[in-house]
Amino acid sequence: MITKSPSVLLIYTGGTIGMIQNAETGALENFNFDHLLKHVPELKRFNYHIASYQFDPPIDSSDMEPKAWAKLVKIINYNYDYFDGFVILHGTDTMAYTASALSFMLENLSKPVILTGSQLPIGMLRTDGKENLITSIEIAAAKQDGKAIVPEVCIFFENHLMRGNRTTKINAENFNAFRSFNYPPLARVGIHIKYEPSRIIYPDESKPMKPHYLFDTNVVILTLFPGMQEGIVSSILRSAGLKAVILKTFGSGNAPQKEWFIRELKEATNRGIIIVNITQCASGAVEMERYETGIQLLQAGVISGFDSTPESAVTKLMFLLGHNLSYKEIRYRMRTSIVGEITRNS
Ligand code: ASP
Repeated sequence: MITKSPSVLLIYTGGTIGMIQNAETGALENFNFDHLLKHVPELKRFNYHIASYQFDPPIDSSDMEPKAWAKLVKIINYNYDYFDGFVILHGTDTMAYTASALSFMLENLSKPVILTGSQLPIGMLRTDGKENLITSIEIAAAKQDGKAIVPEVCIFFENHLMRGNRTTKINAENFNAFRSFNYPPLARVGIHIKYEPSRIIYPDESKPMKPHYLFDTNVVILTLFPGMQEGIVSSILRSAGLKAVILKTFGSGNAPQKEWFIRELKEATNRGIIIVNITQCASGAVEMERYETGIQLLQAGVISGFDSTPESAVTKLMFLLGHNLSYKEIRYRMRTSIVGEITRNS
């Protein structure tokens, strides 16, 4: 019997992994994707069919935006039947936002979409890019009984495969740049790749993958701090077009009890603005019933974002708003896990 060799589509969006140092200025600049392949001759040793697509021009991930997410989904959807998996090379700075957004946009995903990048350009001797790229390709192609082992949008970095919408960039220096604080890794990579099937979400095989493209970016992330001024908070909440706010509160979801603050929030929710409470802490969840300060927020119409990362909360809100759902429906879906982005019983 002839078995088809695995096939992976490599999509290069930009970022350090594909950069080179400008000889004159010393700054890191994007370079041609062909050079990337030249620097990783190991890729030829896979018996895989590896095709590539390059963003032209490649972008620093600070310039990532919903239009580019839609482009990625279009590329994946267009090539969906021809590849076993997809690897997206992406700058690390906003990788967690892109991974979160894609997890909502690719409904009922049945193939791996693995985002990776590096802290050092792939052309450098001590680069972490080679390892990340090679392992990501292996994971994207991995199958058992003819089915993808990890049919999810993930970030692979250093030696952890993480659910994309659970990750956050936590280090601008070290090679282990990402963490998934509130959900354990889907695989650990050492000598072997140890998958954790009980942590992985599988698709409904009776239905196809459904791509989504729409976003509404009329949202803001408001981080609380001692000394916040009423006038400033008030003008943010009254910004023209504002539809939703991610409120980054203290600890397990607490905020100042000042009369003006609760009143501003209440007036905003009465105006139809959705306010979602997530914690400023890297790990743990919001529990609004725990302290009086949290209960006041509930009474002001603020909803819990549970243990959501900021990246996941903001992309999920933009995604839901983009689909023109009702205020009630968006509030309901924000409190419901769509693709494992929140732990409801935390
Ligand atoms: N500034 C780069 C980016 O996010 C950093 C990186 O790739 O790590 O595009």
